[in-house]
Amino acid sequence: MLTPAFRMMRNTGKIEVKKWAFALGVLLVSGVSAHAETMQSGFLMKGTRYQTPYYIKKGDKPGATIVVVGGCHGDEVAGYQAARLLKSWKVEEGTLVLVPDAHIEAIRRNVRAYPRNMNRLFPGKANGDAMEKLAFETWTLIKNSKPQLLLTLHESRGFYAREKARYGQTFTFDFDELKPQFGKIADTVNASIEPPLHKFLLKVEAFDTCPTYCAWKWLHVPATSIETTRTLPLPVRIDMQLKACGAFFDSYGLRVTRPK
Ligand SMILES: [Zn+2]
Repeated sequence: MLTPAFRMMRNTGKIEVKKWAFALGVLLVSGVSAHAETMQSGFLMKGTRYQTPYYIKKGDKPGATIVVVGGCHGDEVAGYQAARLLKSWKVEEGTLVLVPDAHIEAIRRNVRAYPRNMNRLFPGKANGDAMEKLAFETWTLIKNSKPQLLLTLHESRGFYAREKARYGQTFTFDFDELKPQFGKIADTVNASIEPPLHKFLLKVEAFDTCPTYCAWKWLHVPATSIETTRTLPLPVRIDMQLKACGAFFDSYGLRVTRPK
């Protein structure tokens, strides 16, 4: 037989459970509507050994479109691993077009290029060899996305701050006129990077067959490579790539929620 006190506790418990169930329902419903994102996907180089996925992640509100390409070079691990992680970022405003593993065969082999450097073949050729076609299909996706920004994620040996021939810890791009807009973003990212040697510097060097060059030259889309240094620990490099991407997204108006 239940004592009155225990009966009261049990009843209170039921009410509490109902309250929680209601709160959870509200949370789930509002959670779904706040993070509605649609994702389309497809393949570049479909049906070949170079077949690689791309993703188009659209938020439910308008915002900037940004294309991010990782893995143009197969031994630049932080670049493609960061790009893969971006797939789990929820887009709320704008569109993220993502090619995490652009040159998937070079990634499988852990080599920079196989058999040629796709990153020096832009805008590519529809009827060229495999690397020219890969560059062409990547370029076509970039062009058709009508983006406000293109980011390519790379890695380098050494630090640009120490040796001017190196690219490590830089935003490397092709045109001086992009310095003011990219400089502001470097400042934002660098505020959270402690060692002076690890802070991102701007490096301007034009390669006329690079995707970043073609994007600004032919489409007037600002574009840069984000280059981390391979002697730093991999988790640190991935984190820096993601911090940089996040700062670019904020600055250009692509609103996202990063997973916890
Ligand atoms: Zn590279």
